[in-house]
Amino acid sequence: MIFLQIRWDYNTMLKKGRRREDVFNDLQKFKKMDMSYSSGRILGSMCTDPDSVGLEAYKMFIDTNLGDSGHFKGTATMEAEVISSLGRLLHLDKAYGHIVTGGTEANLMAMTVAKYLFEEQHDTMPELILPKSAHFSFKKICSMLSVKPVYVDLDCDYRMDVSQLEGLITENTMAIVAIAGSTELGLVDKIDEISEIAFSNDIYLHVDAALGGFIIPFLNNENNNKYNIDFGCKGVTSMTIDPHKMGLAPVPSGGIIFRHRHHLEKLSVKTPYLTKDKQTTIVGTRTGASTAATWTLLNYYGIEGYQKIVNDVLKLTKYTYNKLQKNQQIKLVCKPELNIISFTIDDMDVDIIKNKLTKMGWSLSIAEYPHAIRLVIMPHVKKEHIDLFINDLNQSLQEY
Ligand SMILES: *Cc1c(COP(=O)(O)O)cnc(C)c1O
Repeated sequence: MIFLQIRWDYNTMLKKGRRREDVFNDLQKFKKMDMSYSSGRILGSMCTDPDSVGLEAYKMFIDTNLGDSGHFKGTATMEAEVISSLGRLLHLDKAYGHIVTGGTEANLMAMTVAKYLFEEQHDTMPELILPKSAHFSFKKICSMLSVKPVYVDLDCDYRMDVSQLEGLITENTMAIVAIAGSTELGLVDKIDEISEIAFSNDIYLHVDAALGGFIIPFLNNENNNKYNIDFGCKGVTSMTIDPHKMGLAPVPSGGIIFRHRHHLEKLSVKTPYLTKDKQTTIVGTRTGASTAATWTLLNYYGIEGYQKIVNDVLKLTKYTYNKLQKNQQIKLVCKPELNIISFTIDDMDVDIIKNKLTKMGWSLSIAEYPHAIRLVIMPHVKKEHIDLFINDLNQSLQEY
């Protein structure tokens, strides 16, 4: 379809080059085919419009390469400061880590470290214990690292059933993963209880807070006391926390934080031709722009700024939840803890409803377990969008 619209002539394009104006005219056409967050129609994404201040910093550092950081000492200093700030946010005085491309890469780094540690003591196939609610990145990771996933069932609240955990630990257990803000339902595992078990069994515990990392520390006090998700729990070994979700940084911005320097150092590889003699990342050449954006946002908003962003989002989540509850046909899967709401519909196929709403211009997502329509209330979603959406939803249910 693109090709019909734009009528590319590949031969001309590759051989001669085209006028700048024509090229940019085509870019406009591509841009028009994309959805925009600001339309308020994207209700199923964990990403959002990047904050304009972060974006300005991103553009300013777009030419930097942290893979060869000897040339970019300022950017490297910013990365160290960002990691230190994220560490303190997660109750860790001295943090070791990197700003990476996202949750997948952060989780991969943590699991690679866990596997290296495991291999120092075993020559058997490593096992990774994780809840059924874990992000699909762990499927990729288990396959890439040849690790056997061992799934823990969810309890009736769709959290890891901690009562099963100890029974699944074997001498081949390489690590445990727990989730602070599950991708499908936004629920928080009982990290403190899981941490106790990991600690007493001397097992590596990774907390995936790709989403929740930029939400939970900013909840107001009455809620915040409820959650103990981070390095304040002594069994937590590493954490994923992504600036490009609720941190409002441009894509790609992920974060990986380790408690111990010697764990990050497990990834260290000598880099003979570069300005630094080693790297502790999986990728080589990597942008410093994500680091600059994150540094800027942390400094510009501070904790109080993020508290406001988070609490506005949670208020709108509650508003949406209450509106959905008014329709008797709608069954909410659980009470939202963060900014995700999932629901099924009495006697109706959620995929059909989703398709109807897609035709009406809404972009929704579907949760797998349980099979439900999933809304993510990100900062680009406003009250007026929710009102329009609920009207369209109610209408499509009547017509079903
Ligand atoms: C989004 C998400 C990821 C993956 O992050 P990417 O940035 O898409 O790689 C991992 N874990 C959780 C819990 C997530 O929500």
